[in-house]
Amino acid sequence: MLKTAFTDSALARFRTRVAGAVIQPGDDGFDKARRVWNGMVDKRPVAIARCTNVDDVVASVEFARAHQLLVAVRGGAHSVAGHGTCNGGLVIDLSPMQTVQVDPGKKVAAVQGGTKWGPFDRAAQAHGLAVTGGIMSETGVAGLTLGGGIGWLMRKHGLTADNLLSADLVTADGQILRASAGENPELLWGLQRGGGNFGIVTELHFRLHPVGPIVLAGWVLYPQEKATEVLRFYRDYVASVPVELTTIVILRRLPQLASLPPFLRGMPVIGIAACYCGVIEAGERVVQPLRAFGPPLVDGITLKPYVAHQTMFDAAQPAGRLNYWKTAYLTELKDAAIDVLADGARRMTSPFSVLAMYQLGGAARLGSAAFCVNAAATWAEPGENDRHIGWAREFAAALEPNCGVGAYLNFLGEEDDERVRSSYRENIERLVALKNRYDPTNLFRLNQNIRPTGQSSAGS
Ligand SMILES: Cc1cc2nc3c(=O)[nH]c(=O)nc-3n(C[C@H](O)[C@H](O)[C@H](O)COP(=O)(O)OP(=O)(O)OC[C@H]3O[C@@H](n4cnc5c(N)ncnc54)[C@H](O)[C@@H]3O)c2cc1C
Repeated sequence: MLKTAFTDSALARFRTRVAGAVIQPGDDGFDKARRVWNGMVDKRPVAIARCTNVDDVVASVEFARAHQLLVAVRGGAHSVAGHGTCNGGLVIDLSPMQTVQVDPGKKVAAVQGGTKWGPFDRAAQAHGLAVTGGIMSETGVAGLTLGGGIGWLMRKHGLTADNLLSADLVTADGQILRASAGENPELLWGLQRGGGNFGIVTELHFRLHPVGPIVLAGWVLYPQEKATEVLRFYRDYVASVPVELTTIVILRRLPQLASLPPFLRGMPVIGIAACYCGVIEAGERVVQPLRAFGPPLVDGITLKPYVAHQTMFDAAQPAGRLNYWKTAYLTELKDAAIDVLADGARRMTSPFSVLAMYQLGGAARLGSAAFCVNAAATWAEPGENDRHIGWAREFAAALEPNCGVGAYLNFLGEEDDERVRSSYRENIERLVALKNRYDPTNLFRLNQNIRPTGQSSAGS
């Protein structure tokens, strides 16, 4: 049973220990501070600790433990399941901790635990460097990395987590530890595969790679009624493209954005978005079939700064809308799966919803998956929940016979235990052993939870 009460004096002592703000119900800004990206998530924590340094994080963990408070850890607040907040517990919010330091000589970066991709990308690109990052600039670096990390550079440079050299974290018992190849290497292995289960990461250290700063990127768009033939062409095309190219197929109605020509706004399309991170001349040859097929309605593959490409989708998925996701892996793109994708797009119930299919392979290894599919239902009116959630569920059920085991951790919503366990694949027993060692009471349970042995209850 969770106890959520603490005395005023205990809270006053906590406030004096934390350099950042501690925001409670009734305080100015509480309603804004409790919000997360997904507008479906409407929770009321007892306090939100805005941590500005490692000591604040330690004090927050100790306060939560002392008062048996449910803990939610927040970075960029983009968890679609709403794991960055909770009812009746403490939100440990690292968003004030956003310092990024790049060492261009060593090609490494130190990134604080509340940093978002926008500032990190910009700091690294000032030196022509980058690591695989989220395709939207507001997503948190730590949350994304701990769940794997897929993005435009992944087929060449691996998942984000593959580039994590070391991390500093505060464990459930308030210890400050480093996990690296030399210190606690098993914990580093766990952080690269086990989400936020082992502690609160206050700093991440990444290996960087020369990228751009100009890349060949953008998308080609086709009318959605051609989805089946475009997907069949795409399947043959990606079978032989080099790892410098990563693509994402997107089926949606184009948003009503002023940046789009009027004739495209609201149009149902299938787009192949692409980023080639190698030598431009070679990239031009690689993307030529994309430009030639169809021909496309729009050929928007062009030379542009990598940081601009990294914000390409920002405006289309703003914070605050209502969201429900269903995700799955495909080991291959069979005709049957193509039919389900085309049909799912036709049946889409909201102008904001998206079907996205990420091309894996090369250095982007997630078990035997070749593609990661995400049905992202997004809408604006709370009264319409059932219709849009129903669309995502029906799509997922239709795709299911074609799917591989488990799903990509970072795209999972609230799922049952079995789905979460299977998403940890063959790593699950080793991860449970680490959880038993570093968080035996499951203090950090608002995540894709690895349950310690003997613990049964999840939080809310
Ligand atoms: C619009 C959008 C775009 C996305 N694009 C991508 C993408 O391109 N590639 C991709 O791989 N994923 C993507 N995601 C999924 C994203 O990686 C996950 O939602 C991730 O959990 C977000 O991290 P966050 O810090 O923003 O979220 P939060 O809600 O703040 O945190 C989510 C969870 O991450 C853990 N966590 C966060 N920070 C820390 C920390 N410092 N220490 C320990 N644990 C921590 C906690 O368990 C927390 O509950 C996207 C999500 C959205 C909504």
